[in-house]
Amino acid sequence: MPERRTAQKAAVMNVLAEADAPLGVQEILDLASQVTPSISQATVYRVLKSLLKKQTISLVQLPGETPLYEMAGKHHHHFFRCRTCRQMYEVQGCDELIQRLLPDNFTLEDHEVFLFGLCANCRR
Ligand SMILES: [Zn+2]
Ligand SMILES: [Zn+2]
Repeated sequence: MPERRTAQKAAVMNVLAEADAPLGVQEILDLASQVTPSISQATVYRVLKSLLKKQTISLVQLPGETPLYEMAGKHHHHFFRCRTCRQMYEVQGCDELIQRLLPDNFTLEDHEVFLFGLCANCRR
């Protein structure tokens, strides 16, 4: 049924648009099923795959983590993962020092920075 498909796709997109950190498939499924209870994990995977192909969303792959997803086209940002509660935070901005790590005559095309530690809640 095309209408149901559209609703499921919209549910997944809304979940990602409203998230303030990238989400894994299980989190997307949990949140999307609050709006569209008929949605299954297979559907979430299928919708994510098609959104990735259209570059509506992007994949966030952290070392040793399952794939996470976020809306594409965001401003440049990085991530902080709390090692205690496992919560992921988006970190704004970047450091120009990264550019200075390059040896002479090298060109930097892209970079990934992942920060790990204790979030403010867990430090208490
Ligand atoms: Zn924490
Ligand atoms: Zn950066």
